[in-house]
Amino acid sequence: MTLSYNPPKLTTVKGLTLSSQSMLKPSAYQIRLPGTDCLIKAHIPLATLTSFRVGGPAEWYVAPRTYEELQASFEWARAEGLPITFLGAGSNLLVSDRGLPGLVIGTRRLRQTQFDSATGQVTVGAGAPLPRLAWQVAAQGWQGMEWAVGIPGTVGGAVVMNAGAQGGCTADSLLNAHVLLPDRTTRIFTPEALSYAYRTSTLQGKNWLVTQATFQLEPGADPTQVTTETSMHLNQRRATQPYHLPSCGSVFRNPNHYKAGWLIEKVGLKGYQIGGAQIAQRHANFILNCGGANANDIFQLIRYAQQAVNHQWNLWLEPEVQILGEF
Ligand SMILES: Cc1cc2nc3c(=O)[nH]c(=O)nc-3n(C[C@H](O)[C@H](O)[C@H](O)COP(=O)(O)OP(=O)(O)OC[C@H]3O[C@@H](n4cnc5c(N)ncnc54)[C@H](O)[C@@H]3O)c2cc1C
Repeated sequence: MTLSYNPPKLTTVKGLTLSSQSMLKPSAYQIRLPGTDCLIKAHIPLATLTSFRVGGPAEWYVAPRTYEELQASFEWARAEGLPITFLGAGSNLLVSDRGLPGLVIGTRRLRQTQFDSATGQVTVGAGAPLPRLAWQVAAQGWQGMEWAVGIPGTVGGAVVMNAGAQGGCTADSLLNAHVLLPDRTTRIFTPEALSYAYRTSTLQGKNWLVTQATFQLEPGADPTQVTTETSMHLNQRRATQPYHLPSCGSVFRNPNHYKAGWLIEKVGLKGYQIGGAQIAQRHANFILNCGGANANDIFQLIRYAQQAVNHQWNLWLEPEVQILGEF
């Protein structure tokens, strides 16, 4: 799909090509990605691109639509000497109020999807929403993605985080993932090579970009039945988890033998609030932005819960949420 927009008139300032409007309004600076008609924009507020709805601006932000634009984004950041951060749906991120330096590459426009009904394999762009994929495969009578329907991330984020729910996880059906490396070569990884475990993979903490993933599913079931099962998964989550306010889902990984939410509940922190951030009454492993929270409120609440649990249980809860920028 081609995005329609009117390319701005461009002018060069200090070696960078800036739009003419941006000369008047620094927050509207935008640069044409060399060799493409894709725009890199300055000072984009990341609060609008993350599910917590907090966080300062990206110094630069680009959302490529094609592999070529992705490659060009990498090349531009390298030429400008800028660090790169990847952003999927932003549903597992706590971004600093000070924002992020360098180039943030958003994957959400990389959505191409191909179904192979002969094999039951589906190949999906990194930015495709996981719930949409779950509904699409259910509608074809393919089993194996029912668990994914309530996880509001992208396919790329799921491959990195090994997202999972209700007994299923990404690693279960992943056949391979295409990964763009900092030297701009692409490697294809099998799940075995990614050392998957509970909400972890070797892709975490690396500057390696998942561009697409192929899943092996089980075709041939009754579409109505698979869709009904998918709906049941969603209803069950909505009944037990607080979906009404901004959050990142579960904040902490469950330590061995315990549920993080149970530990937090037992130290009496349900409903505890710092600024606009609150430990959810319905599920103590959720922190909610009750309105007006900033990233620092959430960060302080994470620390407070870690210390309280450590004091009582001698356990240090590890965040599942990825914390980015300076705190
Ligand atoms: C209401 C709610 C419920 C949730 N429930 C669940 C749940 O049940 N189970 C679960 O596992 N998670 C859950 N989550 C958390 C979250 O949705 C998952 O972790 C999801 O997989 C994150 O995907 P994302 O696209 O939003 O990634 P982001 O939050 O954008 O990024 C997460 C990390 O992955 C990196 N990243 C993202 N895309 C790529 C890419 N293409 N290549 C390389 N790195 C990349 C980012 O840099 C970051 O480090 C929930 C979140 C919310 C808000």
